[in-house]
Amino acid sequence: MEDHYLRQLPGDLQALVQATEQQSGFAIQVEADPARGTTLACHVDERSARLLVSREEFFQPASVMHELLHMRRFLVDGVPQIVVNDDFNDWTPQLEAGLTNLDNSLEHLVIVPEEILRFSVRRQYWAGVMTRKLREIRVNPLDPDDRRRHALVNWLFIHHVPMEDALRQAADRLLDELGLRQQADAFRDALVHTLAVKEETVRVCFAWLNIPFATAALKCIDSRAREARAVAL
Ligand SMILES: [Zn+2]
Repeated sequence: MEDHYLRQLPGDLQALVQATEQQSGFAIQVEADPARGTTLACHVDERSARLLVSREEFFQPASVMHELLHMRRFLVDGVPQIVVNDDFNDWTPQLEAGLTNLDNSLEHLVIVPEEILRFSVRRQYWAGVMTRKLREIRVNPLDPDDRRRHALVNWLFIHHVPMEDALRQAADRLLDELGLRQQADAFRDALVHTLAVKEETVRVCFAWLNIPFATAALKCIDSRAREARAVAL
């Protein structure tokens, strides 16, 4: 990572950048694109590790840490990402977006608790995100399968990541309204003990959310060999 970005981070995050770069063999490139909103993002593949920001000065340590944790999982820990299965014939952009979204949500179950432990102010940030999600699930015109998927996944986040009681209760009320409360408890019980093994998490999640295994594959990056391979579920 270029020095003028690295210097904006506290010491422990500089160490996280350096450890991630050393262990993966990738230099993390920061790219400023004014067309982006204020949110950060990262993109990793077998060739590069990029951190995307809208402007050079939008480099908040807590948001940067979030992206670094995503990168460390994929590049150092070898955690796979859900991608569309190339052999699946009924590809749609919605399917691809949905799988990307689901992968992100599963990753957040692991990385957001670590992020909040380091930056307690991020609890409020995530509470805001989740409050908006609950509202969208209630009011957006979703088909019943999608509403159920979003409800279960976001309820699980709210109950797994340490959130305020009021938000947990709001999530419970929504799931009660949708008749999904008991399913949500069982979904959590089935999923949380798999979080150390992403492949297992994805299989359990797909089964619970009625997503056909044939739609997706798991892509692993071998950063040392600069190779990626996708395996069927
Ligand atoms: Zn994220």
